[in-house]
Amino acid sequence: MYSNFYINKFFKNIFIIFIIFIIAEKSFAKDPLILKFDNIIVNLQGNFIQGGLVKGNVFPDKVIKFEDKILLKDANGKFVFGFGRNYKEDSYLEVKISEKKWLKKSFKIKKQTYNTQYINGLQKKMVTPPKSFYDRIKKENKSIELIRNLNTDVNFIFQEFILPTKGIVSGVFGSQRILNGKPRRPHYGIDIAAPKGTPVIAPIDSIVRMAEKDLYFTGGTIILDHGHGVTSVYSHLSLININVGDKVIKGQKIAEVGSTGRSTGPHLDWRVNWFNQRLDPALLIN
Ligand SMILES: [Zn+2]
Repeated sequence: MYSNFYINKFFKNIFIIFIIFIIAEKSFAKDPLILKFDNIIVNLQGNFIQGGLVKGNVFPDKVIKFEDKILLKDANGKFVFGFGRNYKEDSYLEVKISEKKWLKKSFKIKKQTYNTQYINGLQKKMVTPPKSFYDRIKKENKSIELIRNLNTDVNFIFQEFILPTKGIVSGVFGSQRILNGKPRRPHYGIDIAAPKGTPVIAPIDSIVRMAEKDLYFTGGTIILDHGHGVTSVYSHLSLININVGDKVIKGQKIAEVGSTGRSTGPHLDWRVNWFNQRLDPALLIN
């Protein structure tokens, strides 16, 4: 009896330590969420916050919809979706349960707080482009938009991301930007300041969709396609080591850090998108 009491107490303490450990771990982990649509179970895991990406799975033969878009699934029923910078507080998923019937389940999206970033000393033409550049900028934006709308059935997005370069984070996702005193579009990427020539690597496997030496705003620019609507953008590059159509693997050098385009010093601007939703790259790194 006596020894049993102590053994029980011992296990009870271990159990408590274990629970504390799980709770402590959880604040770093991505939140799980299980949604039930009648007898159809959808498992979700990710950051339910503005800028967050969620990965999920469902029986492969089920049809699932988010923001009126039917989600592409891999052979195991895995899919992804994400929430942009100003994403609303209430969101929902829909699952098709019969020919004409869809069921809807809602969930909450947390707000992020964004700071204001003042950048001065930019060349005037980079804050307000001269009219003579409008056609060029329009053309460049059009090709970026086409790539962001790709819904490729490669499954690289289910890998875990690593940072694409080493340096100091000098700009975060979502900041409101005041350029030379003029309010401009928010910053959708993270900036990593590093010396010119620092290698830039692929954060997960990808297919190269854009490799341009000189875009008006972003200078040397690469866009990688990770599948299922997720693309990532690398800007201000001084050197590009890959070509459109290449398959690159996680960790492979794709470029070098630079200061081309609208930039005040050498840094990598790294952006991630799920179609037209801008994601926070920092949330993808553990
Ligand atoms: Zn930037």
